Amino acid sequence: MSASKFLVTSNGGLSVFAVKCGHLDTNTGFIENANCGEAIVIDPSFGSFAESKKILSPQTKIIAALCTHGHWDHIGDGHIFQELGAKVYSHELDKPLIEHPEVMAAFASIEEELVPCKVNGEITDGSVLNISNWFEAACRWVPGHTMGGVTFYMKTLGCVFTGDTLFRGCIGRSDFHGGNEDLLIEGIKNKILTLPEETIVIPGHGAHTTIAREKAENEFFS
Ligand SMILES: [Zn+2]
Ligand SMILES: [Zn+2]
Repeated sequence: MSASKFLVTSNGGLSVFAVKCGHLDTNTGFIENANCGEAIVIDPSFGSFAESKKILSPQTKIIAALCTHGHWDHIGDGHIFQELGAKVYSHELDKPLIEHPEVMAAFASIEEELVPCKVNGEITDGSVLNISNWFEAACRWVPGHTMGGVTFYMKTLGCVFTGDTLFRGCIGRSDFHGGNEDLLIEGIKNKILTLPEETIVIPGHGAHTTIAREKAENEFFS
């Protein structure tokens, strides 16, 4: 299998990959730096560790796992990456889900065990996450799907990971614990749709889209 099948975009030695993983076809992202042999994983869903072996170069080391939110379908393999040395990042309000995923067992209805990760770094609204002198992401707190939902915007790569906040043509569910539709819509309007129109949106599930397309075609915002 060719990794190019999963390539979303690239620039200056950095490549962004996205692959569907796990029971709910969660989009897991990888940003690989071919110059230094490091990579970042975004939303390490169940099965994403095995996918990383197919997509990334064999010598590439995954140094960080970023969580758009703490739902079980986005964090299933987080503990594997962490055991191999990756630092785990999330908003503090979703830290309890990541560190105690058993609270979601009733909703998960899956065979696999939900294994906790320790959150090593907390993401705050408006902060810029810098990792290993090559990865930079502007972080925005967008609650409403969960209390601690965040988005990661990589300016030089022209893409944003929105988790289950914004999908192509739709928005995330707000009927789970901690959900709030008004906050969700306000946050998307003010913190995501204000990004450059050509920005590629990689949601937590489903097809990629762009900011321009969502402004024009998403019934919640058009
Ligand atoms: Zn979710
Ligand atoms: Zn999800």
